[in-house]
Amino acid sequence: MTFRIGQGTDIHQLVEGRKLILGGVEIPWEKGLLGHSDADVVCHAVSNALLGAIGEGDIGRHFPDSDPRYKGVSSIELLRVVMTMVKAKGFCVGNVDLTVLAERPKLGPYREQMQKNLATVLEVTPDAMNIKATTGEKMGFVGREEGMMAEAVVLLESAK
Ligand code: MG
Repeated sequence: MTFRIGQGTDIHQLVEGRKLILGGVEIPWEKGLLGHSDADVVCHAVSNALLGAIGEGDIGRHFPDSDPRYKGVSSIELLRVVMTMVKAKGFCVGNVDLTVLAERPKLGPYREQMQKNLATVLEVTPDAMNIKATTGEKMGFVGREEGMMAEAVVLLESAK
């Protein structure tokens, strides 16, 4: 069996007047993430990790924000496209470990739905799609609630 590893990081700015979408879940909150797409940092970090593992650059290369087709697009749909690329290369997902850095709101109540959404697209059981969350301890851009960040690592296995 062949293994590939990938890492992905994403950051978006928090602003008023935007929906907060994380892992395909709309979270009721006073601010949302700014971006050309729905700015779902969780999906972007996982997409980047997958693309890294298959040696295909990053999501900016495949879904440029200069392209009007991706304006307001659901990042779960972009992840679905990335997953088709992973499968086309002969791989399946072994597991993903993800950390979301956000000062507020508490993400605990939404974790299970996020995990389910991602696991469904990645075709893994929920325990292979781990989601962790941490705050910025009131320090830096996360702590000042100027933005959110997500980091993911993924292990791919050659498909049987
Ligand atoms: Mg992004």
